Amino acid sequence: MSQSEPDMRVVELIMALRSAGIVDRQVLGALERIPREQFVTADFGERAYENRALPIACGQTISQPFVVAMMTEALCLTPRLKVLEVGTGSGYQSAILSLLSRRLYTIERYRTLLHAAEERFDNLRLRNIVTRLGDGMIGWPEQGDFDRILVTAGTEKCPPALLAQLREGGLLVAPIGPPEQQFVTVFRRDGEAFHQRQIAPVRFVPLIAGIARTL
Ligand code: SAH
Repeated sequence: MSQSEPDMRVVELIMALRSAGIVDRQVLGALERIPREQFVTADFGERAYENRALPIACGQTISQPFVVAMMTEALCLTPRLKVLEVGTGSGYQSAILSLLSRRLYTIERYRTLLHAAEERFDNLRLRNIVTRLGDGMIGWPEQGDFDRILVTAGTEKCPPALLAQLREGGLLVAPIGPPEQQFVTVFRRDGEAFHQRQIAPVRFVPLIAGIARTL
């Protein structure tokens, strides 16, 4: 396909996101620009632009485009902000965040996933992403505080270390709750207090402490 010809599958996905309630043009524009087919395994290439989560390596998933868009919208990003993502996975959500922020720091506990994501960032020339193999539950203290933090794995309670690395007035978005009853929750820091707001029910793979022993 030539570059000037829009991929109809992308156009349809963007229309589906709009009718599902995503209104932020910057967010829709970022989803339009990042080729999701490069983030899924070859067997799922045909389904890359369906509005669904899909399996990736290491038993993990690439999030549903609607959920990526909804969480990104909730972060209220601007090009000056320093952002932390916990759970790089395929790197798809990271790529979206990188287009809408100054610098993205992203942490993943599986080496295999992290390396595949790094290769994708290189191919797409996304140069403002810094990666780390590690336990995102402890955050990235050397780089904190962050203006925004996004957790892309489910947890009953937000890890305190992450809240501690959020700057005054900053926003943290995470799927919070037991596996059957998770809600995307937005935390806003107000001094030592955190205002919380639940925005939508979701189901994410779990946030797990420590670096994965298997690759
Ligand atoms: N944002 C990803 C979603 C990946 S699923 C995407 O767009 O593809 C969640 C990811 O979080 C998985 O890759 C999982 O390995 C990772 N994860 C779970 N617990 C973690 C932790 N403590 N630290 C870092 N990554 C973690």
